[in-house]
Amino acid sequence: MASPRGVEILRAAIFHTPGNPFGETGALVTFEDGALALAEGRIVACGDYREVAGVHPDATVRDLRGGYIVPGLIDTHVHFPQVRVLGSIGYTLQDWLEQLALPEEARLNDAGYAAAIAREFVDALASHGTTAAMVFGSHFASAMEILFTIAEQSGLRICSGLVLSDRALLPELRQSPAAAYRESRLLIERFHNKGRLRYAVTPRFAVSASEALLETCGALLREDSSLRFTTHINENGREIEEVARLFPNARDYLAVYERFGLVGPWSVLAHNVHATDAEIGRVAAHGASIASCPRSNAALGSGIFPFRRHVDAGVRCTLGTDVGAGTGFGMLQEGLQMYLMQRVAPQPVILTAGQLLYLATRAGAEALGLEDETGDFEKGRAADLVYIKPPRGSVLAGALKRVESSEQVLAALFTLAGAESVHEVRIAGEVVFRRKTDETQ
Ligand SMILES: [Zn+2]
Repeated sequence: MASPRGVEILRAAIFHTPGNPFGETGALVTFEDGALALAEGRIVACGDYREVAGVHPDATVRDLRGGYIVPGLIDTHVHFPQVRVLGSIGYTLQDWLEQLALPEEARLNDAGYAAAIAREFVDALASHGTTAAMVFGSHFASAMEILFTIAEQSGLRICSGLVLSDRALLPELRQSPAAAYRESRLLIERFHNKGRLRYAVTPRFAVSASEALLETCGALLREDSSLRFTTHINENGREIEEVARLFPNARDYLAVYERFGLVGPWSVLAHNVHATDAEIGRVAAHGASIASCPRSNAALGSGIFPFRRHVDAGVRCTLGTDVGAGTGFGMLQEGLQMYLMQRVAPQPVILTAGQLLYLATRAGAEALGLEDETGDFEKGRAADLVYIKPPRGSVLAGALKRVESSEQVLAALFTLAGAESVHEVRIAGEVVFRRKTDETQ
């Protein structure tokens, strides 16, 4: 190990996207024999091994060749209380919510249960290489205290908040606007900006939030401009019809949130599968981000995200796993699903591996307001990274033997790398996950 003030160099193939590959050429930066130099938890240099090693001759070098380093992955939509409902198929959104997700979420009223779920959740993020996430929380303040406490111990960068609802859901999942305000304020005071934690005001969706509750959300955001905001929007047709019925004066779904001042650069809106052109244009104008969750959209039959229309309008798009409606925590697999669905979209897009990496890293950092801290390997960023090494004898290891370019390596990783290939994960230089069978140790 390097001494605390010394420089450590990780030597491996390195990929990152300091630029935006939707528009900028050369946004994907790769080093076949690369060096990532770290000191005191921050990136000192990222470049070709010989060059970086020449500048830091006294550095401790860890030879990780045979593996690949990418920035820590960033999941912009994942539900903490739904870890144990993963793995079910055959539902629509409404059936899945009523029969599986919401009854499970009600169980988090039990502190012991919530603690077990929070540990499973945080461990799953880290072991899949996810170092930062916009986490859809629990409806119970007690469960949120537990999640924030365990997340802080884990070292992960977590944006989350109490989920607010005052109608439509099970009675135990509702709270009055007054209680929502009071409990949110207490959690914000205790956890917002504590270490790597950030607070996100989180109404579940317009169907389960009255005007008074949405007004409460707006009041919370007005009181502290550093808060984040997240919710669901335009996920499926039935939901959109219900919102139109509940808010007859709103011209569309987005307008419901706009009216209460909930949409801005601090907002991450999940799905937007069935958005009108007017909504997409306004999301872009607000500088808000859309978390697209292609595995969830396919699993629940919600539809294909109109990525082309979003990108053409200049909307900031990111990736989310939407566990547990999605099918797992892996952000590389989520990227693959994005690629697959966009190939068959009505307005198809052929996403490159570099674009997928951007969506899974840098774009997420920007959506979470963490762009100065994480998302790529620019000098001065926190050393948040994933070391990927395919298991010996695996199909991925075989595929990587015959690839001819760095782009092809990255494409193979998105296509074939599962959690078993995630060997080491660091946040600000500290190891938050290391695979026990690591042959490189
Ligand atoms: Zn969701």
